[in-house]
Amino acid sequence: DTRTDSSLAVERLVKRFGGITAVNGVSFSLARAEILGIIGPNGSGKSTLFNLIAGAEPPDAGTVRLAGRDVTRWPAWRIARGGLGRTFQIPSLFDNMSVWDNLLAAAVEADWQGAPERAEEALELLRIGEVRDNLASELSGGQQKLLEFGRVYMRAPKVVLLDEVTAGVHPNIRKIILGALRRLKGAGVTFLIIEHDMEMVREICERILVMDFGEVVAEGPFAEIARDKDVQQAYLGR
Ligand code: ADP
Ligand code: MG
Repeated sequence: DTRTDSSLAVERLVKRFGGITAVNGVSFSLARAEILGIIGPNGSGKSTLFNLIAGAEPPDAGTVRLAGRDVTRWPAWRIARGGLGRTFQIPSLFDNMSVWDNLLAAAVEADWQGAPERAEEALELLRIGEVRDNLASELSGGQQKLLEFGRVYMRAPKVVLLDEVTAGVHPNIRKIILGALRRLKGAGVTFLIIEHDMEMVREICERILVMDFGEVVAEGPFAEIARDKDVQQAYLGR
């Protein structure tokens, strides 16, 4: 059964806020080491979907399975410990701690024994070794995004949710992020990414999910999605 074998599977997820149905019956599953992109206009329910998967908010209906386990309504910390990592649109760093300490702090809940070695790997993977002793607050916006990614890496996640991780960053930073994604994918990590950068989506996502009004309106590889009439109307604005 592909559903129980998958890294992540959501089934008929629903979330309402008062009169708004932010997520309205979303289902999909991801194979191990797959990169699935989520696109859709503002307010289409992408971030809410991430919150439901990560346990930041409970769904009104539906299920979330992580590595075959039903994690629906688990608290966020427990889902994280179960192998889910996520970045936030605005990096959640300790501003007055060094880059190095930010990395180690991220591992406190995970594998503390191997943390220094893993932090060295993160510095190398994200090419932030030169600023290892700098305070997080001294980093550029792009470097903060790299550090945020590094903090996720520290917890050795099986599935990673990235919310617009390349939004507004310098092309060099974008390249580093793309390289890190590819390397982790090679090591078996699964990614679900919300992206507005269509170039990034085209380059890295094997499959794309298009959301509109809380629903999945199209799903498939980029070339297929780009031809879809509903997608052009809802997202590409044509
Ligand atoms: P996206 O990430 O695609 O821009 P969101 O998931 O942030 O969309 O929002 C989907 C809808 O749910 C929007 O109409 C938004 O206003 C609403 N929404 C999201 N979070 C909340 C909340 N905590 N309380 C009330 N409404 C919310
Ligand atoms: Mg959002």
